[in-house]
Amino acid sequence: MNSDVLFYISLVILVIGAVLILLTLRRKRSLGLPSGRIIYSDPGVWGKLEKPLYDPALGLTGKPDYIVERRGRFIPVEVKSGWAPEKPYDSHIMQLASYCLLLEKGMQKRPPYGLLKYKNRTFAIRYTDELRQQVIELVEEIQTRKEQGELDRSHHNPNRCERCGYRFTCDQRL
Ligand code: SF4
Repeated sequence: MNSDVLFYISLVILVIGAVLILLTLRRKRSLGLPSGRIIYSDPGVWGKLEKPLYDPALGLTGKPDYIVERRGRFIPVEVKSGWAPEKPYDSHIMQLASYCLLLEKGMQKRPPYGLLKYKNRTFAIRYTDELRQQVIELVEEIQTRKEQGELDRSHHNPNRCERCGYRFTCDQRL
């Protein structure tokens, strides 16, 4: 093969690579995701997590919508279909914090923050010691109430469960 042909093949490969990178960046920007390697996405855009994250000690399980790796840290991303409130709902923060906790335990690396992405806005929620403690106490309280039979569902509305921020730890969800 002469050197001109090799040059043009290399050029075409470079252009295709650049286009793919641009498309990926554009896709990530449209989803409001941070720069970094996406290692998992629930809607199947970049691949599948084999199993949900699980912590046997707390009896906690969950699957964030995305996990992004950034500078060696894993950041969970939870996507909400609705418009952003003034500030994120507590139940959404707790759901995201539970993913931070599961990632911390599963990957032995503590996420510095998680992302709550609403339709029009994305909030970065710092995974502080205080938030970590709050989510542990919440999960423990729910487990205790479950054991004592104090947590009976009061409705038959699947839509309500679909939107509920506590479905990550609720075994009565519809
Ligand atoms: S997921 Fe559980 S806590 Fe949430 S609305 Fe449904 S039953 Fe109630």
